[in-house]
Amino acid sequence: MARKAPGKSHRKGLTFMEVADMFRDEDTARDWIASQRWPDGPHCPKCGSVNVQSGIKHRTMTHRCRDCMTGKSKTMFSIKTGTVMEGSNLKYRAWAVGIYLFTTNIKGVSSMRLHRELGISQKAAWFMLHRLRLAMEAETGPFAGPVEADETYVGGKRKNKSNAERKAATGRGAVDMEAVVGVKDRATNKVAARHVTRTDTPHVAGFVAEKTRIGAKAYTDDAAVYNALDPWFDHESVNHSASEYVRGDAHTNGIEALWSMFKRGQHGIYHKFSPKHLDRYVTEFAGRHNDREADTVDQMAGIVSGMQGKRLRYRELIADNGLSSGARS
Ligand SMILES: [Zn+2]
Repeated sequence: MARKAPGKSHRKGLTFMEVADMFRDEDTARDWIASQRWPDGPHCPKCGSVNVQSGIKHRTMTHRCRDCMTGKSKTMFSIKTGTVMEGSNLKYRAWAVGIYLFTTNIKGVSSMRLHRELGISQKAAWFMLHRLRLAMEAETGPFAGPVEADETYVGGKRKNKSNAERKAATGRGAVDMEAVVGVKDRATNKVAARHVTRTDTPHVAGFVAEKTRIGAKAYTDDAAVYNALDPWFDHESVNHSASEYVRGDAHTNGIEALWSMFKRGQHGIYHKFSPKHLDRYVTEFAGRHNDREADTVDQMAGIVSGMQGKRLRYRELIADNGLSSGARS
């Protein structure tokens, strides 16, 4: 059925034609999402009971739990209840195709494009994308290693400056840039990454230590902030400041591949990662990296199962979190 996806001969992609068949109407999309959420049949999001009546004729609540009450009546719920989709008026079809587009576009998908493809408002598309990022959030690590750790920087106005100024500004933690720290496990090819608000030892080396098993081999560049790893890990650094990038196994090329995709998404799709939401974009790119060997349908199923037990309300999304916000994309 599905033909092979580009680049990876062993994984199965999904053509747009197949997706159009899979989600040809609201019922097929809803049934697919339900089967991914509840592979063993529906259960009550409130009490966990499988003693559930399905197919209820109600505008939104299609299931009723026979074992628990909400107020004076049996608990009613839908496939969206207890997931990031809770409270969403968007059709299941929009969610299903949205998941497909989010999964298969390796540099990400903009809210503008989702707005056009799904026929929903850009605001609804922007909100959907942030909820899909939340669904992609998964705990990775601590890794057994060997690991590579590195940071990348986004934002700032560096490109508008003269060459001399840019050269002077290449130090870590330039004041107008946001830092992201990442760890890649060479054994499993999995990554963990996080937006950090400071580039000091607790934030940078602290994140690496959190994601790496004590005693593991850890490769970094020669930034002083990584010296704190020495007592706990088999730490080796490459001297980037002396233009040394690879010395045998001592390099950080693996984690830099994640940064390269992250930057391609930034420049090609999102244009700007606002500090306020940066960590969600980091989650998106780390998540896509970690799932990239899986077949497309399995990647999509992973998002549906990751939707459960999470919630992101619009007012929480737009609320002030102490970090500056930028243009939406
Ligand atoms: Zn119940």
